[in-house]
Amino acid sequence: MSVVFDADRRFPVTVPVLVIGAGACGLVAALAARDAGAEVLVLERDASPGGSTALSSGFIPAAYTRFQREKGIVDSPEQLAADIQRKNHGEADPRVVDAVCRVSGPTIEWLADRHGIAFVIVEGFLYPGHSALRMHAVPEKTGTALMTALQSACASAGVDILASAHVTTLYADRSGRVRGVGFKRPDGSQDEVGCDALVLACSGFGGNPEMVKRHLPEMANALYFGHVGNQGDAVNWGAALGAVVKDMTAYQGHGSVATPHGILITWALMMEGGIQVNAAGTRFSNEHSGYSEQCLPVLAQSGRVAWNIYDARLHQLGLGFEDYRQADSLGAIKRGDTPAALAETCGLPGPALVATLAEVERYALGEGRDPFGRDFTGKSKLVPPYCAVKVTAALFHTQGGLAVDEHARVLAGTGYPLPNLFAGGGAARGLSGAHVWGYFSGNGLLSAVTLGRLAGTAAAKLVHS
Ligand SMILES: Cc1cc2nc3c(=O)[nH]c(=O)nc-3n(C[C@H](O)[C@H](O)[C@H](O)COP(=O)(O)OP(=O)(O)OC[C@H]3O[C@@H](n4cnc5c(N)ncnc54)[C@H](O)[C@@H]3O)c2cc1C
Repeated sequence: MSVVFDADRRFPVTVPVLVIGAGACGLVAALAARDAGAEVLVLERDASPGGSTALSSGFIPAAYTRFQREKGIVDSPEQLAADIQRKNHGEADPRVVDAVCRVSGPTIEWLADRHGIAFVIVEGFLYPGHSALRMHAVPEKTGTALMTALQSACASAGVDILASAHVTTLYADRSGRVRGVGFKRPDGSQDEVGCDALVLACSGFGGNPEMVKRHLPEMANALYFGHVGNQGDAVNWGAALGAVVKDMTAYQGHGSVATPHGILITWALMMEGGIQVNAAGTRFSNEHSGYSEQCLPVLAQSGRVAWNIYDARLHQLGLGFEDYRQADSLGAIKRGDTPAALAETCGLPGPALVATLAEVERYALGEGRDPFGRDFTGKSKLVPPYCAVKVTAALFHTQGGLAVDEHARVLAGTGYPLPNLFAGGGAARGLSGAHVWGYFSGNGLLSAVTLGRLAGTAAAKLVHS
């Protein structure tokens, strides 16, 4: 991956707006640029678009949408921004947080009304730190279905997506103005295309073990659960152009991936009363802190595994999620009529698990205080029959990246934007500050979708100015 400074380079063809990466960010940016009247081309390294977006649950937080209002849910962009900043202890750029929260609702409604993408509200539980039900998903509630919907919207809108086009080189002049890119085809041939504006939507560096080791050493040996094609290209190109790179130590981890099956087990189970225990049958953390930071305590347990313990009521809640159903059909979910029977099925020490469940029952009844600080009251206590699933922790995606302003323009060290470079999603500095605990559920797709829209709109405006 390189940047070549060549102000005089000629390209066989030049497009007004070029987008690198066909995940949620890239496709939303392309739709926005098209709606603003610009011709747009998306280059995608894989044979078909997908990215981490297709691997995700596809839940997008957005505030004050008509989908919320129809259900009587009270929310506002300010409330969403406050929730995000509370989670990251005020470490994210407030200008960008405010901008993405402000456009989050209108962006979901625009995707629904203008581009025919159906959305529902994810109900039944609140993620850590969320003060309102505001996760929007396509009815299938999967990232794959979200990507299918976005691709079909792009096809209808006349967005050109060139797959199997792995961008390797940016050509720029010395002012940092990108003039075009070079890309490699699967047969090894090279092509080039010029552009008037470039949107970097090629995500973060989770698929690059060397960069993960450098920036996130604690996750160097963890399972990577995101898209392997995300190699840190945006950050490396941006840095070579003089862009500011921030929060490279931030990421979304997860403390609940069924092992050995490798399937995400929804954190809704924890939020509604479930607990995690280790091989000794004892709890080791406050499960309500957040699923992202929970990756570290889980990795610290013997064998780098934990067991999610819950009951039949929560099993029903889990069945509302495609990946949970898949885990169930593969036999990952264990059952037991009593704590002792469950312990035997899972190979956990019976007396310890019995004691742990008795202890959390007392907390649920308001008797005694959880030493880890979790409030068990207000949720139903766990009752027989019980369920369990063995989980490990994983790195889902990285949150550090190119600093952008409220128009998704990439900022240079001077504090001013680079002339024609935009970034969003995993390519941009996230909304989570510099730490794993700063990740607020949904920050990933929130940034992909809203910064994608802002980037596409601003890029089209630039080429028309
Ligand atoms: C299991 C899982 C569940 C998740 N669930 C959620 C959720 O419910 N809600 C949420 O908010 N977030 C979730 N996330 C995070 C979310 O998936 C990401 O934050 C989001 O998808 C990032 O979108 P993106 O468009 O920036 O990147 P991606 O969707 O990864 O797209 C980037 C694209 O760029 C392409 N690319 C990379 N380099 C090049 C190159 N040099 N040339 C051409 N193309 C290139 C890649 O192939 C890829 O298609 C989840 C993540 C995982 C792993």
